[in-house]
Parts: sequence; structure tokens; C-alpha cells
Amino acid sequence: MNSGARIPKDGQPITMTPAGLKVPDRPIIPYIRGDGTGVDITPVMIRVVDAAVEKAYGGEKKIAWMKVYAGDEAIEQFHPGLSEDEIKAIPPDERQKLYLPEETAQAIQKYLVAIKGPLTTPVGGGIRSLNVTLRQVLDLYACVRPVKHIGTPAPVREPEKVDMAFFRENTEDVYAGIEWKAGSPDADKVIAWLRGEMKVKSIRFPAKCGIGVKPISEEGSKRLVKAAIEYAIADKRTKVTLVHKGNIMKFTEGAFRDWGYEVGKTYPQIVTEAEVNTTHGGKVPAGKIVLNDRIADQFFQQMLLRPDEYSVVATTNLNGDYMTDAAAAQVGGLGVAPGANINYHTGHAVFEATHGTAPKYAGQDKVNPGSLILSAVEMLKYLGWREPADSILRAIGAAIASKRVTYDLERLMPGANLISCSQFGDEIVKRL
Ligand code: NAP
Repeated sequence: MNSGARIPKDGQPITMTPAGLKVPDRPIIPYIRGDGTGVDITPVMIRVVDAAVEKAYGGEKKIAWMKVYAGDEAIEQFHPGLSEDEIKAIPPDERQKLYLPEETAQAIQKYLVAIKGPLTTPVGGGIRSLNVTLRQVLDLYACVRPVKHIGTPAPVREPEKVDMAFFRENTEDVYAGIEWKAGSPDADKVIAWLRGEMKVKSIRFPAKCGIGVKPISEEGSKRLVKAAIEYAIADKRTKVTLVHKGNIMKFTEGAFRDWGYEVGKTYPQIVTEAEVNTTHGGKVPAGKIVLNDRIADQFFQQMLLRPDEYSVVATTNLNGDYMTDAAAAQVGGLGVAPGANINYHTGHAVFEATHGTAPKYAGQDKVNPGSLILSAVEMLKYLGWREPADSILRAIGAAIASKRVTYDLERLMPGANLISCSQFGDEIVKRL
């Protein structure tokens, strides 16, 4: 660490042990401020978290925040003289490192748990998004998105019935990026091999056809479902649902479902929906968690019509992408949707706002800090610091109920008073 990131003197690293995460009283947590409205929401998040932790533990525990740099802020900090054109002229691999300096990646690697504001997609082609890079480097295989109504105006009649935690597989599926452009020699080669050697007859228009590959593995599916089941146990949930399109894609989506049930068998706490109906007369035995599965399209419908029937949801990457944004919309939108990317084996976890940088509002102290604050709530839960997590959650709900809210909520809530991003933080702190 030499060019900006300071290791807090009074902090200690979080470590991973065979028994799980070991969190000291002064855990070092690297944070990335984020671009655009990151300048507005990140300081508010830190203020709310510090106040809640202080209130819960009276100074006995405290986060040792460690500022690390990424995105535009990394350029401003380390290469302030570079123009956009000069940046674009830098080869992609080197440019990638300007936006995500090695010491930032190393800090997250070392200290395990980090939180970040939104990052701009870097200028110039040929490099991956910084979020994707972090996920790949740290193998953050579970995208965890809890969706719960906290009083924001919502498009459905009974948003309070929504309380779901989504586990979206983060490393496989069509996101593996294995695809070939229609008409390219590579696509033609793959198509010729499929039709010739593999006897595939169902490519409708083979003459000019893009081709993509969807890998879904046993290891990737099982580790994701395991994470979802363990979250359900720790969070005292009653159900885990495997969502898939196994009726159409038997060996990928269907295999995900089957491997999921195999994982379920290894937990004494789990009973399948089929067992409940056949062996237990339709009654869930006390203390058990029900494991069931739903086909994705049917689940989409039921999530809207009967959301209270679902609790923890484990799903493949593409299904999860659509589903988590749709579920967030059901309770009021991305402004209040938290997110995390986690590797439960190594302990690495990056918590983040689910919205982007909203550049048109940057620096105006205007936007809603709710998504990042709720992500911090998930981070506190992950550390096992339940009291401050619960108290922030209650305080945000109470702040929204008081109708003193940021512009996005004010325009939807009749009779609400408009306040700034930082004032909304004050309203939360007042109610801790
Ligand atoms: P965006 O930044 O999420 O903004 C879209 C709209 O969402 C805003 O105009 C605003 O709506 C609303 N919004 C976003 N954040 C809000 C907040 N905190 N409070 C209230 N409303 C909020 O999406 P984008 O404009 O498509 O993307 C901008 C940049 O962000 C791009 O460079 C993109 O690549 C990046 N991005 C980063 C991440 C990430 O780091 N995780 C995720 C997505 C996008 P109104 O206009 O209605 O007020």
C-alpha cells in the first residue's frame, strides 16, 4: 500500500477460520466512495453506520474505515493530469489498472469485507466493468439481494408482503461470455461442428446465426444453493425456493434444480415440499425449512400475486438478473435495493448500491442514500453485528414514515417534504 490507501492504525483485519468469519472489535473495512453520486451517498452511509454501531456497542466496537480508490476517483487521485483522450489511448490492460489499482484489489483481497458506491463504466473500449472485474478476481459467486418493503411508495397493492432474499449465481450461465457473432468464421465453425459431429438439427437458420454457450456446473450450482440454505438457517427463514427453466433446458437449468435438491438432503433442517405433502400430511414439521422449486415464468407471476409465499430464492444467473430488479421494483425501486457479492468459502464480500452513478445529480446532495445504507445493513449482518443492522432498518422505515424524504420518494408520496441526501441521513440518525 503506497499511493493513497492508509491502513487505519487502530484497526485489525477480519479473518476467515474453519468456523467462519472472525470479526475483531475494530474491523478494517475498505470502502470505495464511488463515482457520480457516490460523493453524496457514501459519507452519509458511513455517518449512519458509525452512529448505529456507537449506539449499539457504546464504543466497544467500531469500524476502522479504510479509504481505497477505484473508478474516476482513482484517476483523479493518481493521474490527475490525464485527459480523456490520453486515457483512451492507453492499452486496455493498463487502462483497467488505472481504474482499479492493484492496491485496491489487494486491500479487498486482504481485508475480506468491503463496501462500494457505484462506479462509472470506464471510457474507451476493450475493458471489463470494474464490478465484473472485482467479482471475477475474488470469485464472488453469490449475488445476494434482499428485497423487503420499508415503507416506500410501491406499484403493487400489498408491498409489505414482500420479504425475499435472492441468491443469484454470479459466475456461470450465459454471462460466461462464450458467444460468436453471426456470420463470423468462428460461428460458422461451431455451427458446422454442431450439425455435423453432434447431429444437431434444430438450428432454424444456420446460414447467419449467432451462437452462445450456457455453462451450468455441479460445483457452481451446489455452492450457491448451499449459501442460500445457510442464509435461511442463520436468518431464521422458513423456505428456500430453487427457481429455474428446467422444463426447457434440462441439462443446465434442470440440473441446477436437481443439484439444489441434493444439497438440501445434506441439511437436517431441510424438508422438501414433496415430503411435507406425502409424509407430513401437508404440515411443515416444527423448526424445518421447506425446500421447493418453481419454474421461472411461474415464479415471476407468483412473486407478484403471492409474494408472502416466498422467502429465500436461489437461482441461475440470467433468471436472477431479471428477477432481482423486478422484485426491487415491487417494493419501490432500485433506490432502496441493497446488494452484495460474496464468496462464502473465502469470506470475501463486496457490498454495494444496486443503482448506478446517476451522473446528472452528482455532488448536488440530492439523491437517496437508501440503497447504499441498506447494503451496509447487510454488511453488518454479515459481520454478525445484528443490533446496529436492525436499528438502522427500523430507523430508515421510521424516517420514510415521517415523510421527510429525498426527491425520488417525495415525488411519489402525497404530502411529503423534500429534504437533501445528507438531511435524510440526519433523519435516520435521529431515529436510531
Ligand atoms: P443510474 O445511475 O442507476 O441512474 C438511473 C436513474 O435512476 C437516475 O437518473 C435516477 O432516476 C435513478 N437513481 C439512481 N440512483 C438513485 C438514487 N441514489 N436515488 C434516487 N434515484 C436514483 O443508471 P444509468 O444512468 O444507466 O448509469 C449511470 C452510470 O452508472 C453508468 O456509467 C453505468 O455504467 C453505471 N452503473 C454502475 C453500477 C454499479 O456500480 N453497480 C450499476 C449500474 C450502472 P431519475 O432520473 O428518475 O431521477
